[in-house]
Amino acid sequence: MTAGSEDTLVQMDRQDPLAAKTAAFDVPAEQIYLDGNSLGCLPVSAKQRAREVVEQQWGQDLIKSWNLHQWIDLPFSAGEKIARLIGAAPGQTICCDSISVNIFKLLSAALMMHNERHVVLSQQGNFPTDLYMVQGLARQLGEDRCSLRLAADDDIASALTDDVAVLLLSHVNFRSGALYDMQAITEQAQARGILVIWDLAHSAGVVPVQLDACRADFAVGCGYKYLNGGPGAPAFLYVARRHQAQAAQPLSGWMGHMAPFDFDNAYQAAPGVAGFLTGTPPVISLSILDAALDVFADVDVAQLRQKSLALAGVFMQRVAQSPLLAELQLLSPVDEAQRGAQLAYRHPHAFAICQALIAHGVIADFRAPDILRVGFSPLFLRFADIGRSVDVLSRIMRDELWRDPAYAVRHKVT
Ligand SMILES: *Cc1c(COP(=O)(O)O)cnc(C)c1O
Repeated sequence: MTAGSEDTLVQMDRQDPLAAKTAAFDVPAEQIYLDGNSLGCLPVSAKQRAREVVEQQWGQDLIKSWNLHQWIDLPFSAGEKIARLIGAAPGQTICCDSISVNIFKLLSAALMMHNERHVVLSQQGNFPTDLYMVQGLARQLGEDRCSLRLAADDDIASALTDDVAVLLLSHVNFRSGALYDMQAITEQAQARGILVIWDLAHSAGVVPVQLDACRADFAVGCGYKYLNGGPGAPAFLYVARRHQAQAAQPLSGWMGHMAPFDFDNAYQAAPGVAGFLTGTPPVISLSILDAALDVFADVDVAQLRQKSLALAGVFMQRVAQSPLLAELQLLSPVDEAQRGAQLAYRHPHAFAICQALIAHGVIADFRAPDILRVGFSPLFLRFADIGRSVDVLSRIMRDELWRDPAYAVRHKVT
C-alpha cells in the first residue's frame, strides 16, 4: 500500500479519533469544503440554537431572556469556552465586536500603558485590517503618539528596538500559513519592554496556543473561521490578568461599565476584562457562536492539530507526486512546526483554477495576486475528501478546464 493510495486514506479515516465529529456538522452534500479557515461549516448545535434563540427566547420570552436565558452573560460564557482552546485561565477572555474593533481597543490600551513610546511594530504581510487599525489610530492620535512600522515577516527579532511600544502580529500568516513561535517572540519583545498583541484568527480552534504559559499580554481572534461560529460571528479578545487593573480602553460604552443598570452619567470601568466590552452584545450571533463552541467541549486541541497536519500532509504529498500539478508552487513552510492549518500555492492562474475547483465541488479560496489557499479544518474533513480534492485539481489542470471564460469573472468577495 503506497502512502497516497485510496486504501490508506480509508484506513486513516477509520483510525481517526475525530471521525465521529463530522456528524456534528451540516456539511453540504457532494462538496469538499477546504475553506474552514475562512468560514467554518454549520454545526448542528448552532442550527438548533439559532432556532431556539429566535423562536423561543426572542419570540416568546422576549426581554425576560436577558436573565432567563443569560443573554447578558454570553460575552463571558462564550469567552470561557474559547479560553480553554487558547491556554487562558478563566477571567481573561470575552467575545465581542470584530477583530478590527478589538485591535483598536487593545492597541489604544497598550499605547496608554506605554505613553513614552509611540511605535507600533507589525509584520509586512499581516492581514491588512490589523494594519489599517493602527493607521486609523495614528491619524486620530497623531504620529507622535502612534506610528506604524513594518518588519520583514521572517525577521521580527531584529526590529524589536527600544522605541517600540507594541508588537502586533498574526500568529499564523493568512496567506502563507507560516506560524510564529509565540513563546520565543513574546519573550524577546518583553525583554525590550514591548507589549505584544497576538492575532489568533487562523490559530484558535486548530493550532495549540498557550497564552498564559507564553506570558502573552493581549490577544484577539476570530469566531467564524475554525471556531465555526457563522458568518460575521463575534470575535474574542484576551487581556492578561496582570494588566487588567491598568489597561483602559477608549470605547467606554455602558456594557463595560461596572454597573450599567445604575445609569450613572460618569463612566467607571467594570473590573477585569469586562471593561473591554462596549455596547449591547449581538445576542443572536453570539448565541450561535456559543453553541458552535460546544462541539469543542470533548476535544483536545492536540488532536485537532495532529489531524489538520495529517490532512495537509496528504494534500501536499499528492500534489507533489502529480506531474500535472508541477506548476503549483508551494508557498507554505514544508516544516509542520512552522505552519498553521492551511496550505498556499502560487500559480499565475490561481483565480481561474480556484473558480474551476469550486464549480467542481471543491471549495477553496483565492488570495490576490496569485494564491490558491486550502484550509484543513479537522472537525468536518475526512482523509478521503483530501484524496478526491487533489484528483479534481489534477483533472482541472490536465484538461485545462480553468481556461473556461466563466472562471475569469471576479465578484465582490473573492
Ligand atoms: C480574518 C482575519 C481578520 C478579520 O477581522 P474582522 O475585523 O473580524 O473582520 C483579522 N485579522 C486576521 C489575521 C484575519 O485572518
